[in-house]
Amino acid sequence: MAITGAAELLATWEAGLAEAPNGRALLLHRTARPDVDAARLPVLPVGEREADLFALRRALFGERMQVRLACSACREDMEFDLDAGEFARSLGGRGGSGDGGDSSAGTVVRVRQDGWDVEFRLPGVADLTAAARAADPRAALLARCLVSAVRDGAAVGAGDLPVPVQRRIAEAVEAADPGADVTLNVACPECGEATRAELDIASYLWTELDAWARDLLLDVHLLATSYGWSEPEILALSPLRRRYYLELCADV
Ligand SMILES: [Zn+2]
Repeated sequence: MAITGAAELLATWEAGLAEAPNGRALLLHRTARPDVDAARLPVLPVGEREADLFALRRALFGERMQVRLACSACREDMEFDLDAGEFARSLGGRGGSGDGGDSSAGTVVRVRQDGWDVEFRLPGVADLTAAARAADPRAALLARCLVSAVRDGAAVGAGDLPVPVQRRIAEAVEAADPGADVTLNVACPECGEATRAELDIASYLWTELDAWARDLLLDVHLLATSYGWSEPEILALSPLRRRYYLELCADV
């Protein structure tokens, strides 16, 4: 991944300020995957996006992620480190671990059970967003992502899939796109109880980017005031040089 320049990243942050969390996540994903057409990003499997965002986090701010969580049993504050690089690798992005005989070709999983033969597309962010607005999100997601369902040679609609087949589809999707749901399971050092929590890498990364951007603007302000340089000139400096000049300003 090419690390984006400071000016470009600052522009991403500025664009994101006006956006809801979904729009911010999309902007971050665009930064992470400049190789993919922007219109295609919301269609990529959700787990692939999460892996992309972990890789971006690592490229921008390093491997070590600090996470704070309150114990669900005793409310004790827990603080621990996660490894963004490990997440990016383990989530893979490309899916297709290929277990249990279901073949996953590209972003479609196939389930065969009790005379049913079902093909199902791995949901992307666009699918989740649209389904969340429906009266029955589960049914809506099923209908959106169903590619084909055949029972004993006859085509069947999404509404007629029996629960066991639906469950097999959910399992196949999870196996093919494991990063879709990053759940942490942390044992409390005080009481020993385990706390489960979802890690939302998009909002985690946005919070960091926001802090970074505000710090950077302050640096620009200080350097512009001292040296009379323009914003583009200051942003073009490497972080190391920027730091040096700031130290020199402070010494004067
Ligand atoms: Zn506890």
